[in-house]
Amino acid sequence: MAERIKTFLPEEQMPTQWYNVIPDLPAPPPPPLHPATMEPIGPDALAPLFPMALILQEVSGDSYIDIPDPIQQVYRLWRPTPLIRARRLEEALGTPARIYFKYEGVSPVGSHKPNTAVPQAFYNAESGITKITTETGAGQWGAALAFACQMFGLECEVWQVRASYDQKPYRRLMMETYGATVHPSPSTATETGRKLLEAEPDNPGSLGIAISEAIEVAAQDPQAHYSLGSVLNHVLLHQTVIGEEALVQLAELGETPDLIVGCTGGGSNFAGLSFPFLREKLAGNMAPVIRCVEPAACPSFTKGVYTYDFGDMAGFTPLIKMYTLGHSFVPAPIHAGGLRYHGMSPLLSHIYDLGLMEAEAKVQSECFEAGTLFARCEGIIPAPEPTHALASAVAEARRCAETGEEKVILTALCGHGLLDLTAYDSYLTGQLQDYSYPAEAVEAAMAGIPGAGG
Ligand SMILES: *Cc1c(COP(=O)(O)O)cnc(C)c1O
Repeated sequence: MAERIKTFLPEEQMPTQWYNVIPDLPAPPPPPLHPATMEPIGPDALAPLFPMALILQEVSGDSYIDIPDPIQQVYRLWRPTPLIRARRLEEALGTPARIYFKYEGVSPVGSHKPNTAVPQAFYNAESGITKITTETGAGQWGAALAFACQMFGLECEVWQVRASYDQKPYRRLMMETYGATVHPSPSTATETGRKLLEAEPDNPGSLGIAISEAIEVAAQDPQAHYSLGSVLNHVLLHQTVIGEEALVQLAELGETPDLIVGCTGGGSNFAGLSFPFLREKLAGNMAPVIRCVEPAACPSFTKGVYTYDFGDMAGFTPLIKMYTLGHSFVPAPIHAGGLRYHGMSPLLSHIYDLGLMEAEAKVQSECFEAGTLFARCEGIIPAPEPTHALASAVAEARRCAETGEEKVILTALCGHGLLDLTAYDSYLTGQLQDYSYPAEAVEAAMAGIPGAGG
C-alpha cells in the first residue's frame, strides 16, 4: 500500500472546544494597565469596544471553551483543514526529516483568519451590535472579517493601510464584494486621520494608525464595536482549532513532532498551531522545540523590548506588556504585510519570556527562496508570511541532511499567496531588497513609551 501523506479528518472530528493555554502556564501573564493610573484595567474598560462574551474569553481561567453551534456550522465550510506531508520538498532537500504542513489556505479567503473572524462576528451579532470596524494591512484580516460579518448580517467598515490600499487592489475588492466599506488609512473619516493628513498629505499609513482610526469610530457609535484580527488572547484562543486538529492528524499518521515552526506577525496562527502541542509538552507527553519566525525588518521578539506599550499609534488602547519595537514604529515596505505590526501578542510574549519557545528572524530573500522551492515541489504558492516558517523548516531539514537526523517538522501553511504574486514578481526579477531593522531605532522608540523610561 502507498504511504499515507495526507489526512483529511471527517467533519465529525472537527474540534468542538477552543483550548485556553493560560491555566496550564507556570505563571499567569501580566495584566493590561490603564495608561493614566498604571493600574490593571477591569473587563468593563473594554466594554465600549468588545461584546462581553469576548471580554470574558480574554480573561478566562477555563481550560476549554465550547464553540457555539452557529460558529461550528460556518467552520464546516472549510474545516477540518488538511495536514499534508511535503514529500517532494523532502526529496528536493535530500533530507531524512519528515516535513508536515497544516494548510489553512483552504478557507474562503485563503488564510487562517476566518477562524477568529467568524466567532467575533457571531458574538457581536448575538449582543445586538450592528456594525464592526477594523483595520487591515494587506487585506487578509479585512477580507476575513468582511466575510464573517456577512455570515451574521453585520455591517463591516475597514481602514486599510494606505500603501496597501493603493498597491494591492484585489483584497480591497474582496472586502467590497463581501459588502464591506473600505477607507484608505489615514483617512478623512476620523479625527486621527485628519490630523495626520494635515501634517503629511501623502502619509503611507501603518497598522498602528489604522487601528486608532477604527477604534475612534467604534468608541463613538453605540451600535458599533471594534475587532482585532491578532494579538489578543481571545483571538489566539479561536485559532487553537488549527493545533487541535493537527494533533489528531499527526497521531493518526503515527508521528510526534520534534519541531513546530510558524510565522509571527501578531502571533495568532503560530499560537493556534502550537498551544495544543505546548499543552502536551507541559504535560510531559512530547518534547517538541517550538519556534516562531519573524521578518528581520520587523523583529519584535529578536530585537524588541519586553515592556508595557500601546497597541496602537495614537495611544487609545490600554498598555499591554509585550515585545515591542515601539508604537511609533513605521515598517519598511516588505512583502509580508501581515507581519509588520510593532508589537506581539502579550500571551506569546509571556510564553517567550518564560523560555517555553524560541524565536528567529529571517530576511525576505531567504523566505521567498524557500517559498518558491515549496511551490515547485508541493504545488501550493505560499503567502509571503508563512514563507518565513518555511525558510526555517528548510534550513532545519538541510541540517538533518548533514546529521542524518530523522526529525519530524510541523509548520502552519497559514495562507496561499495567489493574491501576493507581485511579491513573487519582485523575487523572480531580482528586485527584492533585504532589510534588517536597526537596534538603535528600537532604543530611540523606547523614549516614547511610558513604562520604558520615556
Ligand atoms: C495575518 C496573517 C499573518 C500574521 O498574523 P498572525 O496573527 O501572526 O498569524 C500571517 N500569515 C497570514 C497568511 C496572514 O493572513
